[in-house]
Amino acid sequence: MLSPLAAGISVGLGAAGLVGLAAGGFAYAARWPASRIFGRALIAPKRTGELALTFDDGPNPLWTPRLLEILAGHGVRATFFMVGRAAEQQPELVRRVAAAGHLIGVHSWSHPDLALASAAQVREELVRSRRALEEITGAQIRYFRPPFGARRPYVLRAAREMGLEPVLWNAMTSDWSEPSTDKIVGRLTGKIDRLEQRGWAANIVLHDGNHLDLAANRGPSVAAAEALMARYKGTHKFVTLDSWNL
Ligand SMILES: [Zn+2]
Repeated sequence: MLSPLAAGISVGLGAAGLVGLAAGGFAYAARWPASRIFGRALIAPKRTGELALTFDDGPNPLWTPRLLEILAGHGVRATFFMVGRAAEQQPELVRRVAAAGHLIGVHSWSHPDLALASAAQVREELVRSRRALEEITGAQIRYFRPPFGARRPYVLRAAREMGLEPVLWNAMTSDWSEPSTDKIVGRLTGKIDRLEQRGWAANIVLHDGNHLDLAANRGPSVAAAEALMARYKGTHKFVTLDSWNL
């Protein structure tokens, strides 16, 4: 007998149906991007020794600057998928991220579940957030990660039609709700090491912000990022996602 999750995929319920079957904090996991049934997206290449740190839901006035210090201390460049609404409120911080050599991508304007949005709303979320980030940074924005990983074919198609490359991930844990840095690091290193054994680079998601609450504590996520840099610095190369999209 099919599990509810497998049944959801087989009858083509798509991301919204899968999430309806998933419990609370596991919504992200239910949209596990190993499946390409929702369309083409950049995840990671079959290549060992490379890691991409990516940060979603910022910029955040407290945690993003702290993260920038840590990244600079380790000489690591990362990718930030920003919420347009938060970026517009903190243009100086966005410029600091760009000036430090990190890659900036779009994470929508207001972080809705795009699997539930109309095609017009999807387009508006993408157009508005990309325009804001391009005006702030003066650079072209080329990457898009859908909020909650919601990747209906028309969401990814709309992004590609605008010249935005959809990006998913292959190493994530519920860092947004986990107060223990050790647990976040333990789960992520397990995933990274398993990907490595199978010959894959790791596209790692952590959160430097919270789309609903600028005061959310992202200390455990930021500390986890630092621990990953310390652990893999000697053996792995940290890259930004544009190096995988040649
Ligand atoms: Zn998000």
